[in-house]
Amino acid sequence: MSKNLKILIASSEAIPFSKTGGLADVAGALPKALKSLGHEVRLEVPYYSMSKKQNLNVKEEISSLEVPIADRKQQGTVLSTVLADKVPTYLIKQDQYYDREYLYSTPQGDYPDNAERFIFFSRSILEMLKKLDFTPDVIHCNDWQTGLVPAYLKTLYAKDEFFKNTSTIFTVHNLGYQGKFWALDMPMTNLPWEIFNINGIEYYGDISFLKSGLMFSDVLSTVSKGYSREIQTPEFGLGMEGVLQYRKKDLYGIVNGVDYEVWSPENDKFIKKTYSTNGKTSEGKKTCREDLLKEFGLKAAKDVPIIGMISRFADQKGFDILAEALPELMKQNLVMVILGTGEQKYHDLFTALNKEYSKKLKVLIAFDNKIAHKIEAGSDMFLMPSKYEPCGLNQIYSLKYGTIPIVRATGGLDDTIQGYNPKTGKGNGFKFSEYSAQKLIESVKSAVSLFQDPTQWNKIVQNAMKEDHSWESSAKEYINLYNIALEKNKIN
Ligand code: ADP
Repeated sequence: MSKNLKILIASSEAIPFSKTGGLADVAGALPKALKSLGHEVRLEVPYYSMSKKQNLNVKEEISSLEVPIADRKQQGTVLSTVLADKVPTYLIKQDQYYDREYLYSTPQGDYPDNAERFIFFSRSILEMLKKLDFTPDVIHCNDWQTGLVPAYLKTLYAKDEFFKNTSTIFTVHNLGYQGKFWALDMPMTNLPWEIFNINGIEYYGDISFLKSGLMFSDVLSTVSKGYSREIQTPEFGLGMEGVLQYRKKDLYGIVNGVDYEVWSPENDKFIKKTYSTNGKTSEGKKTCREDLLKEFGLKAAKDVPIIGMISRFADQKGFDILAEALPELMKQNLVMVILGTGEQKYHDLFTALNKEYSKKLKVLIAFDNKIAHKIEAGSDMFLMPSKYEPCGLNQIYSLKYGTIPIVRATGGLDDTIQGYNPKTGKGNGFKFSEYSAQKLIESVKSAVSLFQDPTQWNKIVQNAMKEDHSWESSAKEYINLYNIALEKNKIN
């Protein structure tokens, strides 16, 4: 039996404090699951204007935290609260950096001072721990925003007794975001120039905070086994495949779990009527379907399925093939609702498509958690035609809501969804491999056609609902990984 660990999770977003995507769900749920396994877990996130709006019960923990940036000290304040009555959480407040409408980028593009914002965040984590006198066994870093933490520990803090026994794990939630900045930002980090090389932070002449995390942490993980294999290839490695092959022995895949207190039709606080997950066609789901149609101002007879989508509007999510497929899809016996926000080009595209197909397609350009829950519960099918998908959460949420996923077979989508076979009655969704409008259309047509057969449809819904993707088993895998990281740190 391994010992109880002291763990700090460092994340640039976590529910209920802030969210742009799946990372927030993971960073809000994993600490609770680790705590339930008996470990001491704390969480650090920035305090954004979005966090302020949550009306949290926060207190001031450290009134002035001085964080070195270049040759000056930047001040911040550490606020604290307790996540879900379980996990002490520190919110680093620095209004110049974080009191903004968005977290990382506006529809027009990234904030120009992102390097400085997340140098500050990464360094604040270490400075804060010292002030709190909390030495973690493991710091669990997530994505490029915390990628400098392992580099700091291996350089500026290498001889610091306080962190002598602290190891690091770096989880990649999306390799597409690499925290790339020009080399002249290097002095702002205070990291030594000796690590500005191919085995360090340098990346094709620039610096990459993601690469820093990949090179300097004791172990690496990503959010599905499939994606952990894919990212070692040029197609999915997005330039990092060499680094990932180099660190292959230390790279693990752990699929994300689901917080069923939040994402289950039995407990959902946002839906019109909760319903059971026993797989029987329920009144509750019908009520949620009606509510969703009303919310979006759509009409659909009961044999017309609603296909839902909730997504960041980014190239990764397959909107190019969806746009190409739409004229054909709109001829089918279906209606669609899409909730999304992100890049301006997609805002424009979907505003136009919404107009053109207004009887059968409704697009809401917004970030709206309540509507997201209503789409999960009220839709009959859920579409994710992603070009790549590290894990994907909505397809896993959809299963519990009896909302059948139609996905492209990539990364976590491929790992979690098995194509339904009407002969054997096995499978939980619909899946296509080739990234093309044609294959997407075929997959949707198969789903729509099966929907017309209530016996078969009930079977697939039952298969989906009875699956259990709760966090417990993934949290246990993380504990194993933390122990591996601890061992590695002892050796190095
Ligand atoms: P990613 O992290 O790449 O955005 P995931 O599928 O892992 O994709 O997680 C997306 C999470 O963000 C889900 O919880 C989803 O419901 C939520 N989400 C995405 N876009 C929106 C939106 N426009 N409004 C509300 N929630 C959203």
